This record gives sequence, C-alpha cells and structure tokens, in this order.
Amino acid sequence: MLQPIEAGLSRPWYRLKLPEVLEAQYRAETARQDGFYVQSWLAIFTLFNVLSLVMDREVFGPEGFIVPLAMTLGVFCPVALIAIASLRGRPTMVRISGAVLATALVDIVVVLNCAYLAPAPHTDVYIIIATIVPLVVGLIAPLPFRHCLWFCGCSFALYVGLVLGFGLCTAERSGLPLLVSGLILVPLKLCYSREWAARNTFLIALRVKLQAEALARANARLTVLSETDSLTTLSNRRHFTERLEAAWDLAGEQDAWLGVILIDIDHFKLLNDTAGHAEGDLCLVAVAAAVQASVEAHGGLAARYGGEEFAALLPGAESAAVRLAGEAIRTAVADLGIRHPGLSAETPVTVSVGVTAARGRTRDFGIQASDLLRAADFALYAAKNEGRNRVESFMPAANANRPAEGKGRSHAAVPSV
Ligand code: GH3
Ligand code: MG
Ligand code: MG
Repeated sequence: MLQPIEAGLSRPWYRLKLPEVLEAQYRAETARQDGFYVQSWLAIFTLFNVLSLVMDREVFGPEGFIVPLAMTLGVFCPVALIAIASLRGRPTMVRISGAVLATALVDIVVVLNCAYLAPAPHTDVYIIIATIVPLVVGLIAPLPFRHCLWFCGCSFALYVGLVLGFGLCTAERSGLPLLVSGLILVPLKLCYSREWAARNTFLIALRVKLQAEALARANARLTVLSETDSLTTLSNRRHFTERLEAAWDLAGEQDAWLGVILIDIDHFKLLNDTAGHAEGDLCLVAVAAAVQASVEAHGGLAARYGGEEFAALLPGAESAAVRLAGEAIRTAVADLGIRHPGLSAETPVTVSVGVTAARGRTRDFGIQASDLLRAADFALYAAKNEGRNRVESFMPAANANRPAEGKGRSHAAVPSV
C-alpha cells in the first residue's frame, strides 16, 4: 500500500487522479461533507442579495423597483432557501454542488435581468455583479474540481447567453463583459489547487496511519519474540521471572497461595549423545508441549527455564494442588513414550519434578519470589537424588533460613511442603 501512496505523492501537477486503489478510498472518505459550512455561506449570500435591494431601489426608483424586488424575493430567495434546506446533515458532494449551482444560476439571471432593465448608467454595475456571483460562490464552496468545471461552465454559458440575449454586449462596450467573464477562471484555479492539496493531505495522513500500524505490529511481534523461547514456543526464562514476581506480589496483596514447579528431563545429555542433538531438540519440543498442556490444565503458566529445564507457576495452588500438578506433568511426559536410546528399551524419557507453594502473607516474613524458585530447585534435586522420574516438594524459607547456594544439588533429607 505504501508504494501507491508514494506514486500518488509524486504524480505530475496536471493529474488529480490518484492510483486506482487509493482513488476509491479517497472518494469514499470525501463523499460526504459537513453541509453546514456551505449552508452558512449561502445564507450570507442570500442576505447580501436582500440588502442589495436598497441599491436596486435607488437605481430603479420607486416604480421600477417592483421588478428586482419580485425577482429577488419571489424567485432568488425561495431557490436559495430550498438549496440551504437541502444541505442538512452530511450531504453528498453532488447535492452540495447542485445547491450551489442552482443558487448561483438563478442569481445570475436576476442580476443580468436588472442589468437589462436598469437605466443605462447603471448597466455596467449589474454586469460586474453578475460575474462576482459565481466568482464568490465558486471561491467559497469546497467543490471537487470536476464539479467546479460544471459550475463554472454553466455559469459562464448562462452569463454569455444572457449578456448576448439582452444585448448587453454591443460593439462599443464589449470589453467589460468579456473582461469580467474571464474572472470565472479564478474559482477554477482555486478548486484545482484546493483538491490537489486535499488529495495530498489524504495520502500523507494515510501514509502516517499505515506506518504507525506497521510499527505497532512490529512492536507487538518484538514483544512476543522477547518473551518466547524460539525452540519450544513456551515463555522464556525472563518472561517467566517477570510473571512470577507479579504473581507473588498479587498473592501477597490477596494472601493467596502460589505454587512453583521446576521440571528437568532425566538423562538428557545421554539422549543427546546417543540419539543426536536433533533428536534431543525434538524431544524438548514434545516434552514442552506435554508440560504446557498439563500446566495450563491447572490454570498456570509454563516456561522453558533453560536447557532441558522447565518451570511453571500456579496461582492459587496450595501444597497439595501443586503436588498434584507436578505429578500430572511427570505422568504426561512419561506417557509420551519417547524412546531413550541410552536407557533400556522399556524406559522412556522421563522428568524429575520439584514443587513448592507458599501463602502470600509469608511475603511479610521475608519470603521472596526467588525463594520459591530456590525451594522448587531444592525439591527438584531431591527428586534427582531419590532416583529421578518422581516429584518432590520443599518449603520455601526466607533469606536467613535459606539453604546455602549450590547445596541443593546434593541435598539428601528434604522436608516436605
Ligand atoms: P540429569 O538426569 O541429572 O538431569 O542429567 P542430564 O543429562 O539431563 O543433565 P545435564 O545437565 O548433564 O545435561 C543437560 C544437557 O542438555 C546438556 C546440554 O547439551 C543439553 N541441552 C541444553 N539445551 C539443549 C538444547 O536446546 N537442545 C539439545 N538438543 N540439547 C540441549
Ligand atoms: Mg538440567
Ligand atoms: Mg536433566
């Protein structure tokens, strides 16, 4: 879409039309205009005509005045008022152009009729006024160029026809009507420039809108990429840690339970070494899907925590529930029945699972989100020590009571949650 916009912006000055795909959109967006703008100008224009009766009276005298009076009040004003009334709401451009054209043409007839009937010294004044009518209306009304062509063409034809018909253009005084009729070019030029600018503004606004949308899409994609593990499409460790912090804060505010689970594939290095790295990747993807399905079934969030380790958080899950979820994960992976070439034929790929859970109010005693992770890690390595393919649990401890870093991996006696 940006390409036709650029093509539209660099089109030559004599071409108003936009590339096909944009032309339809431009027309649809500009098809309806606020009629109030033209309505208000037509009202002022009508008022001007009524006020001009003062001049008509001076020119025609008390008896002749009846003609311009009848023409203005009996013909022009009704037409102008109907035109104004027809522009209520959001009229189409055709309706606006029709109203403007009708008002201007009737006014030309009225004024040139005065030029015909007025005493000789005043003829020129009316001839000039008859040109000023379409000039002013054409300048004010925001007509599209092709409507303006019709407007100016009709006005010009009527003007010339009446000037000739009324015999106002004699050999001695042909200069003035010719000169003033040339003024019709002014609204034409203005309309062209106005539409050219309107179309460019439309293109620029569309370009800005499309670029903003593309940027928003790219940002959304970047956000997803920055939160996702590319191999398994689970949340990555950074996103998981953020969500864990937020979930622990929320649990603290509501004094709700929060369960945390760490999962590690058993003998994965051996699988890589025997089946190959590519098979290892396939195994990771399959295990990730099983973990995710189990965790989501328990209303939690699963993530790839690193290498062949996964993590899950389960808002609202107390000790028994998180243990159940851990067991469900372990079973789901074993049930995949992924063959492990490094182990005996009947031993599939399995996972060891460490779980922990804490109530939000323990936050006040110094338990942090990282303490939940540490406790789950401790439980996980207890599961490894106990022979793998099992679930173990451990109670989180505040900083002071926390098991020393690294000790978890050789921890033997593990208290349960
Ligand atoms: P344990 O049962 O004690 O957990 O033993 P293990 O072999 O699973 O654990 P260890 O930490 O010794 O090995 C983990 C292996 O995971 C080592 C590493 O090459 C492999 N690994 C980590 N990330 C990937 C990965 O993205 N793809 C593959 N194929 N292997 C990976
Ligand atoms: Mg590991
Ligand atoms: Mg492992």
